[in-house]
Amino acid sequence: TEQLENTEISGDYLYQLDLENALKYSISHEIPLHKMIKDKKMDALKKYLNVLAEYFPLRYGNIFLETTRDIIKKRNNISGEEFSQIIKSVEEEMSPVYSGPSKWIGCKGSKERYRGYPCGLWTMFHMLTVNFAILNKNAEHEPRKILEAMHGYIENFFGCADCAQHFVQMAAKNKMFDISNANDSILWLWSAHNEVNTRLSGDDTEDPKHKKIQYPAAEHCPNCRYENGTWNEENVLVYLKTKYNYTGINYHDSV
Ligand code: FAD
Repeated sequence: TEQLENTEISGDYLYQLDLENALKYSISHEIPLHKMIKDKKMDALKKYLNVLAEYFPLRYGNIFLETTRDIIKKRNNISGEEFSQIIKSVEEEMSPVYSGPSKWIGCKGSKERYRGYPCGLWTMFHMLTVNFAILNKNAEHEPRKILEAMHGYIENFFGCADCAQHFVQMAAKNKMFDISNANDSILWLWSAHNEVNTRLSGDDTEDPKHKKIQYPAAEHCPNCRYENGTWNEENVLVYLKTKYNYTGINYHDSV
């Protein structure tokens, strides 16, 4: 079984509202900020919209994302403003698209300036790598589909330019493009995120109420580490596949 037996995961939950708010901020604010989207950026946008349409778990169904993807697929370029108008009109046509209020739950910071969108974006991409691997268990084609879409999004659209540069460097250094199966892509992102956590531990941007840790915390997954402190990646994989599974999504609008 892929589920961790007899292990209760408390205090480390996945929330639908964090996923939806990350998606919404990305497509309704961050992408529209780009004056003209073409060439490499346009390819990145198409790949991103495609994985969202295929794997994002919108509560009322993915027709909104599928319709948007299909409109953008036919284009060679688009201005951010026109993209924004398309999002607005498809959203209106398919209403309701989002299932709850625009507020962060698991990604809520102790102050306004902490957490929020970057936390939501990591959460969304972990969720996508996990469910892609679960749904494509036997078909090992396109093992990097989610990671490549993420890489393209971060490189071309993520508003934090330093973060994007770091991430692209890390992808090259940690050989993201050599990954050859979907489970390894889950672990690649987990390990990359921990590398970022190490770098940012104690940084000004760290929420004092949510310290950067090497994830998952030992209290949440006691058997994710061997006695000597090194990772038991097999158990980490099980933990990630449990936490980020669609079936683990929490629909509450408070923690
Ligand atoms: P986050 O690090 O955002 O994590 C969100 C949630 O994911 C956590 O609450 C936890 O539940 C879970 N999680 C944590 N670690 C892991 C893991 N290893 N595997 C799986 N799940 C995990 N900020 C900078 O200042 N400099 C940078 O260079 C930088 N690079 C970034 C690159 C990317 C691609 C992204 C998306 C963000 C980057 N950020 C960077 C922002 C930074 O990483 C955090 O997102 C931000 O500081 C908010 O932190 P947080 O405490 O909410 O937790």
